[in-house]
Amino acid sequence: MAKKQFKTESRKMLDMMINSVYTNKEIFLRELISNASDAIDKRYFRSLTDSSVGLPRDEYAITIAVDKEARTITVSDNGCGMTDKDLEQNLGTIAHSDSGEFKTDNKDDNISIIGQFGVGFYSAFMVSSRIVVTTRSIGSDVAYVWESEGVDGYTIAETTKDSFGTEIVMYLKEDAENETYSEFMDAYRIQELIKKYSDYIRYPIRMDVETSRPVEGSDSEDAPKYETVVENRTLNSMVPIWHRKASDVSEEEYAEFYKAHFYDSQAPLRTIHAHIEGNVEYEMLLFVPQNAPYDYYSKDYVKGIQLYSDGVMIMEKCSDLLPDYFNFVRGVVDSSDLTLNISRETLQQNYQVKTIAKSIEKKIKSELLKMQKEDREKYETFFKAFGGQLKYGVYSDYGIHKDVLQDLLVFRSTSSDRYITLKEYVEAMPESQKSIYYAFSDTPELAAQLPRTQAVVEKGYDVLLLCDDIDEFALGAINIYSEKGFKNVTAGDLDLSTDEEKDALKKANEDNTEMFTAMQEALEGKVKVVRFSSSLGEHPVSLSSEGYISAEMARILSKMPGNEAFANAEMALEINLNHKIADTLRNLFVQDKDKLALYTKILYAQARQISGLEIENPVELSNMICELMV
Ligand code: ADP
Repeated sequence: MAKKQFKTESRKMLDMMINSVYTNKEIFLRELISNASDAIDKRYFRSLTDSSVGLPRDEYAITIAVDKEARTITVSDNGCGMTDKDLEQNLGTIAHSDSGEFKTDNKDDNISIIGQFGVGFYSAFMVSSRIVVTTRSIGSDVAYVWESEGVDGYTIAETTKDSFGTEIVMYLKEDAENETYSEFMDAYRIQELIKKYSDYIRYPIRMDVETSRPVEGSDSEDAPKYETVVENRTLNSMVPIWHRKASDVSEEEYAEFYKAHFYDSQAPLRTIHAHIEGNVEYEMLLFVPQNAPYDYYSKDYVKGIQLYSDGVMIMEKCSDLLPDYFNFVRGVVDSSDLTLNISRETLQQNYQVKTIAKSIEKKIKSELLKMQKEDREKYETFFKAFGGQLKYGVYSDYGIHKDVLQDLLVFRSTSSDRYITLKEYVEAMPESQKSIYYAFSDTPELAAQLPRTQAVVEKGYDVLLLCDDIDEFALGAINIYSEKGFKNVTAGDLDLSTDEEKDALKKANEDNTEMFTAMQEALEGKVKVVRFSSSLGEHPVSLSSEGYISAEMARILSKMPGNEAFANAEMALEINLNHKIADTLRNLFVQDKDKLALYTKILYAQARQISGLEIENPVELSNMICELMV
């Protein structure tokens, strides 16, 4: 029989398939099953107007059969079938011939082209050395057999077939050193692939599976006897959970689905299930996990939403659907408006994907806000797991996402043990309060104990208690919230005093400049200035920072390479004017300058310790204190 030649593009595509280095060869099964499902759809629709071609609804099915001796896998359907013309057109030409020029000399290009076009039927050549398609079109008496061993061409001949539909027999390639094709004949492997890619195909995918079961009537006292039986199994569950009405799905069902599908041992913290209509119509089923997955903070973590086109998975992790700051969200998006052939390369420009991404972001935000409002305890659990990512989101990209994210942040504060939002903080501010105060230390408790925190609290203001490195940077990015700026309690002037207090402080500082100079010299340039302060509450000393960089930022920045210049914030050592220590120092300045130097060093060490900074020389400090004792 004379061989027909493939069209040029098809030949190139085939050549690529046959010599493919594409690692994802397993997708061939998904492609064939998806074609079979489409074919059944077509027959079904035709039967609505032509009852002679129809079948009872529950007889439509896709069948997989394996013959290990012949080394074949067969995929059959009772769909619309193909005429000889159809065969010529559909399998002799690649469906995407408008794809234009593509090179086949570069292996990397091949991979991206395979990804790009979804590849369809030809993907079967990645695993097969020969393919035989027997098909009978609905309403036709004649059947045809199409056969090909690849680029050499194909033949079409008349044959007979009992019923309408298509049967595709793949003769698997021989196993090679680094490629095993036999695995695709393994019943478990096939079941796994169906579960992974085609679970939600709306027609049953059936296969005979050998299982062993105890022989009936065998004595239970003896070791039970087993026999091998063949069971005809339906491998797919057919109805995706996201296609069901949210009101019909129980919490448990969602949880089971989530755990099995996304390999988490815990139920999700929140489930978001919605049918979206509009420019693009789709289902979204999203989950916020309870805990960060083990690799969440590693480079290996890949964000993404599973993307389905009408029940067929087309991408395991579509990262374009999720902004980085919501990268912890898992889930599924299914839209019949998307084509199967969408790929990583074309996704980013894809209008539908962009639209879906935008609405997903909005939905996640509104659901998180809802959880924040309705169940603060749950929200705290969420925030402990993923709050860092939100704060990072506020700070990243020069703060352009702050409007999306700032109301999702919650903080500990001096007013309660619970977390509060910026909105709640601002709403509770007394009229006299100008800024949003925050304090930073290793833990919220330590931040609450800072002398300057207490001074602000005594004034009747709440103070946000920060302890994550990213916190201060996030607030810096927000900069102004509800017309209020942020003020680090340990930075600069807190502006808490009355006019008289201010005048008294000013005078005390002016009267003691010489003493302060002596103290500063004793500290050998470690602080920029020593001065009295009247906003330290009951505490004798405190460190505060001068200028933009706070002591905490300096500490964090100094740990990052290349930031040595930032390493030292300009610090001020503040002595409480209203504490007895102020008098002690003034007396020492007159009577014993050496002791003043000693006291200054000890006070400085104390101030560092209170601020959560390391003491530079603990041995020296210990010796100094002992000197005073003996
Ligand atoms: P695509 O499915 O993207 O169109 P394929 O290469 O997978 O590309 O298939 C080409 C065409 O062959 C299909 O559009 C369909 O018309 C036809 N076809 C493939 N498989 C079947 C089948 N099992 N039954 C009927 N027609 C089929």
